[in-house]
Amino acid sequence: MRLLIVEDDPMIGESLREALRRQGFAADWVHDGQAADAVLASGERFDAVLLDLGLPRRSGIEVLKALRARGDSTPVVVLTARDALTDKVAGLDAGADDYLVKPFELDELLARLRAVTRRHGGRTATTLQVADLRLDPATREVSRAGRSILLSAREFALLEALLERPGAIVSRAQLEDRLYGWGEELESNAISVYMHQLRKKLGADLLHTVRGLGYYAGPEKGTAPMPAGPEKGSAA
Ligand code: CA
Repeated sequence: MRLLIVEDDPMIGESLREALRRQGFAADWVHDGQAADAVLASGERFDAVLLDLGLPRRSGIEVLKALRARGDSTPVVVLTARDALTDKVAGLDAGADDYLVKPFELDELLARLRAVTRRHGGRTATTLQVADLRLDPATREVSRAGRSILLSAREFALLEALLERPGAIVSRAQLEDRLYGWGEELESNAISVYMHQLRKKLGADLLHTVRGLGYYAGPEKGTAPMPAGPEKGSAA
């Protein structure tokens, strides 16, 4: 999951970014409202935004209103230091999906992130699954046919990105964006190395490469074009 942290307090911003990166998120951090605006309007895609309200140069509420005015539905969790009802109401009314009052526990933030991204993706199930391969974002458990499989944080993040939309091809660049924040060291073949490791651990039958396009999870799709009408000899 790729996250943007908008926070002017250097202690909170830094510790939040490091904690989220340790969890395997690609987390980027901007320090004021104008920088947040610029990044969010640039077309760079985030799975969720953690937005402080009291910011220099442009308030969090203004950043949020501008985001929604652009028709951007990226989930936003408002972080507010003040336990003021007006802040929560203003945030939600401006288009926030949820809010957290500082100081908060990392576990609660992670649960809220899972909830807002699940809703945004139109999913009601809390686990991701194709065939007998199952991933639980909350417990971070992966299993195949009921057998638990241990993955590294990056392998988990990569598999999660693919399982969110089974059958949909995700490009290498999209996966790199999901796995790496700004300034994080990235080998050019990193994604194919992780794919190789995932196939070794999970079996190769559910993880596929489409040359030149990217990767998908699910049963292998046939390479033949879809027939226009009923196939010759088909039972239908
Ligand atoms: Ca602040």
